[in-house]
Amino acid sequence: MEHPDFDGRAYAIAAGSQKLLAEAGLWDALPYPPCPITDIDVTDGRVGRPPSPLKLQFDHRAVGSDPFGWIIEARALRIALNRKLHGHPGITLLAPAEVSVSRGQDAAGISVTNGPVLSAKLVIAADGRDSFLRAQAGIPVTRIPYRQSAVVCAIAHEKPHRGVALEHFLPGGPFAQLPMSANDEHEHLSAIVFTDHTAIAARLAQLGTAAFTAEVFKRLGPHLGAITLIGRRWTYKLSAMHAARYYSTRLALVGDAAHGIHPIAGQGLNLGFRDAIALAALIDTATDPGSASLLAAYQAARRPANLAMLAATDSLDRLFSTDNPAIRLARDFGLAAVNRMPRLKRRFMTAAMGR
Ligand SMILES: Cc1cc2nc3c(=O)[nH]c(=O)nc-3n(C[C@H](O)[C@H](O)[C@H](O)COP(=O)(O)OP(=O)(O)OC[C@H]3O[C@@H](n4cnc5c(N)ncnc54)[C@H](O)[C@@H]3O)c2cc1C
Repeated sequence: MEHPDFDGRAYAIAAGSQKLLAEAGLWDALPYPPCPITDIDVTDGRVGRPPSPLKLQFDHRAVGSDPFGWIIEARALRIALNRKLHGHPGITLLAPAEVSVSRGQDAAGISVTNGPVLSAKLVIAADGRDSFLRAQAGIPVTRIPYRQSAVVCAIAHEKPHRGVALEHFLPGGPFAQLPMSANDEHEHLSAIVFTDHTAIAARLAQLGTAAFTAEVFKRLGPHLGAITLIGRRWTYKLSAMHAARYYSTRLALVGDAAHGIHPIAGQGLNLGFRDAIALAALIDTATDPGSASLLAAYQAARRPANLAMLAATDSLDRLFSTDNPAIRLARDFGLAAVNRMPRLKRRFMTAAMGR
């Protein structure tokens, strides 16, 4: 969890999530500085060709002085979280540990192998897409498979990114270049996340460094100058999923245990943070933090927004991951049209910022 090497994975953190991390004392504990995203360019194109001149540009100054969000290294968040968990007087950390959980009407029993037996009013399942606790509770899941995989890496580049994030839509799937803060070795750094058909992504994963870097350059284009691959590359098979319910007796699902979405908009972790904010707010004023009415209120507060984001990211992916000439033409004009509608652009921007 605290592997110190730069591993190239990063999260786009929206303004609402930044506030949560700051209130929890995590933002100031990040060991590597976050990089503000000041502009987002959305372009459409084909691999190895210049993007269409019809594009969409978002400038954060249209909605205030705050950046759209920040790119933070995944390892920075893990290190900050672990530090805070160990030091917090209200938290007892039992990890690594194996537990078995039994849930009854009044409380849940948590029995730690070779450790204590605990009783709790509420168990929170934050154990990801393949949640064991969700399966144990028999909560069904709807899954949408994508025939795509995401390829993730980081690059050093010759020219500065100036805080601009690029979302470049290619027929195989979206390609994102996300600005990162400089480190001791590299002045200009970006995270790269792109999706392509699973077979192509598997082929890319096998390429040598020079050939892989050339493939990234073909998709990115020349605007950042020469690029060098930093750290390792990662491949993730993509799917979306949604749990039929966000709770069961004395159990709440949060984050990817409840919903998993396409990473096209970099919103998955942000949704999980919003779940945590909603659940914490309800628990804060409750006499019984695991009552059925509280858990129903939690689901009512979060499910519509999570489903809307799942649908939006799914539609975006379907609209842009196609080479159909008619659809390409329509979406290019769509991008250019939205670019000329300042009010609509402002609405997109505030939604992406999690305001
Ligand atoms: C390519 C890609 C790029 C992404 N980029 C972004 C982005 O820029 N911004 C963003 O907001 N989101 C992004 N996401 C989505 C984001 O990664 C997920 O939404 C987020 O990690 C979910 O967090 P989570 O804590 O709910 O689940 P997870 O990250 O899956 O964590 C669950 C944890 O539970 C542990 N666990 C599981 N089972 C058990 C068990 N039985 N016992 C003990 N522990 C267990 C796991 O080891 C894991 O540590 C991206 C996703 C992908 C694939």
